[in-house]
Amino acid sequence: MSPLQRKQCLMNTVIRPELVFVRGQGAWLYDQAGLAYLDWVQGWAVNALGHSPEVVTAALARQSSTLLNASPGFYHPPLLALAEKLVAASVFDQVFFINSGAEANEGAIKLARKWGRLHKDGAYEIITFANGYHGRTLATMSATGKPGWDTYYPPQVPGFPKAGFNDLESVAALIGPSTVAIMLEPVQGEGGVIPASEAFIHGLRALCDRHGLILIFDEVQTGCGRTGELFAYQHYSVMPDIMTLGKGLGGGVPLSALLARQQYCCFEPGDQGGTFSGAPLACAVGAAVLDVIAQPAFLDNVRERGRQLHAGLERLSARHGLGEVRGQGLLLALVLPDGDAPVLVEQARAQGLLLNAPRANCLRMMPALNSTAAEIEEGLVLLDRTLAAWHLLRHPSPRRAELA
Ligand SMILES: *Cc1c(COP(=O)(O)O)cnc(C)c1O
Repeated sequence: MSPLQRKQCLMNTVIRPELVFVRGQGAWLYDQAGLAYLDWVQGWAVNALGHSPEVVTAALARQSSTLLNASPGFYHPPLLALAEKLVAASVFDQVFFINSGAEANEGAIKLARKWGRLHKDGAYEIITFANGYHGRTLATMSATGKPGWDTYYPPQVPGFPKAGFNDLESVAALIGPSTVAIMLEPVQGEGGVIPASEAFIHGLRALCDRHGLILIFDEVQTGCGRTGELFAYQHYSVMPDIMTLGKGLGGGVPLSALLARQQYCCFEPGDQGGTFSGAPLACAVGAAVLDVIAQPAFLDNVRERGRQLHAGLERLSARHGLGEVRGQGLLLALVLPDGDAPVLVEQARAQGLLLNAPRANCLRMMPALNSTAAEIEEGLVLLDRTLAAWHLLRHPSPRRAELA
């Protein structure tokens, strides 16, 4: 029996291709028929070191036979080690671990609201952004600015007014006595890979300083080396007050973190928690991943490969008459003149390249951070082939039209 016959047992939450993936190694994912795909999705920017890297499988094996789970109420070495490493590598003083990006953001929202209750007269509003993305819990969906998301599961959680991204005036206009924080992604990922401008980030910091607000960076997608720095805030000479991490932190294993500077660390026992918070298995993997991605030579490679991919995409854009290339490091998007991105994702897959389309007019590339120059080149060749075939379909030459 084909495993796909069992698909009706799954809730209908996502459209999946009619393939079953059985194995992954490095940059490559393999389906049941044995076909190989160069993977520029990598579990949604999760597999920072590619599929099943030795570093992760060894940490899993070691930790799973040492201490799989203690209790969120007990200390253990992986918890202490990962917290210490993250604090040492960043401008933050304390960490709370949980499983997903949305949960880390829930923690950030709670921390900001608690700080507002204690220090800002009960201020609780967090300004977030049009087309921003913060997760799928009810509160993080309410913080999310995806068009239409405000009507999915009414009523929304109140307290998330939306400003325009890279529009400082629109932020200033929303600040009032109830405002406690501003939360944004340094590069809007799901919104179509849109980087915040240097001036915007500096302006937000200045607004926060002037009004006593907390600046929260959601680095669930941009953190952990993805943009060529360990954390995206390091591209700017600006310090956020709170940061969340997820996706790449666990290298494929569910793990996320909420980090804050000392003056905002106002949780007390009982305020925040979770059964799997800071569990040994996930923390041991996170520590092993962080040891690799925090190395300067590793980040050099991310920047190099990012430049290579960026330049290659610009060549393809010129050759096929497409739009701009944007993003940072190995979080890049190629803009299309129309809404054909979902079609191109399917055509690329048929060529053996896995991409994703966060919006109908752009293709997103999130290769493994340890990709080699040859792997990036191979992906560009596959994409070139895909675009050429797509182009022919859309603009048949007169001769082809005659033959038809
Ligand atoms: C993916 C993502 C999230 C949500 O993470 P989950 O692990 O899916 O809950 C939140 N914020 C940003 C910026 C993301 O890219």
